[in-house]
Amino acid sequence: MPKQLNFFLKDPRHSFALPFASFLPIALALCAISCSSPPPVKKTQTRATSSPVRSTPTPVKEIPRKSSPPLAVPMCPKMKISNRPATTNGIFKRAISTACVNGVNLLIAPVGNACFSSGFGMRGRSFHKGIDYHHRSGTAVYAAAPGKIVALNYRPMDFGKWIILDHGNSVYSAYAHLASYTKNIKKGDRVARGQKLGTMGKTGATTRAIHLHYEVRQGKLGANISSYFKLKSIDLIKQPSYCR
Ligand SMILES: [Zn+2]
Repeated sequence: MPKQLNFFLKDPRHSFALPFASFLPIALALCAISCSSPPPVKKTQTRATSSPVRSTPTPVKEIPRKSSPPLAVPMCPKMKISNRPATTNGIFKRAISTACVNGVNLLIAPVGNACFSSGFGMRGRSFHKGIDYHHRSGTAVYAAAPGKIVALNYRPMDFGKWIILDHGNSVYSAYAHLASYTKNIKKGDRVARGQKLGTMGKTGATTRAIHLHYEVRQGKLGANISSYFKLKSIDLIKQPSYCR
């Protein structure tokens, strides 16, 4: 027993400590085995225990817009929608955001926040050769697939400010009634899928609310851009989802 402890115990004032002192060497020996500091436990290992672990959920990384188009588009409320696609609870859903036209995958809804306002097919007495998306305050319009701008001009008699993209494989997409173009884009530019082309508006001959008229056509475009209107119109919603 250490001298200091011996001296301490011999002092009658400390006699109460004697019973504890006799156990002290045993306690010290046991502690040498069991009281050593456990190895540091990593935080991730504690999750395996049954007790609830409060942790901050890992934030989901926001995927860039170009690869994250909407898969679900609501039908516009209080609007008469011609040729409306099949919906679930008023929402048009697809597992994949694209449709395949002659080897080109095109976004079904190349827009930001918007609702579906008109489908492809007969609308009244005329044939609607595209799909319309509406948002009352206008919203972004994106390129549906990689391509080249082959037209970017103003047609007051119908499409207003519009853009035609050439995607190769004789596939073209057009975006009409735009309120504005993205700054600095011009005819001849190459664009990526999801690149912003402008904002939806109501330019040209339209009595409808702000909307994007979006259409896809297939065929051979001649030297004159007006030959675009002779190309075959495609009902995008009826196309397979993805080119294999
Ligand atoms: Zn339209």
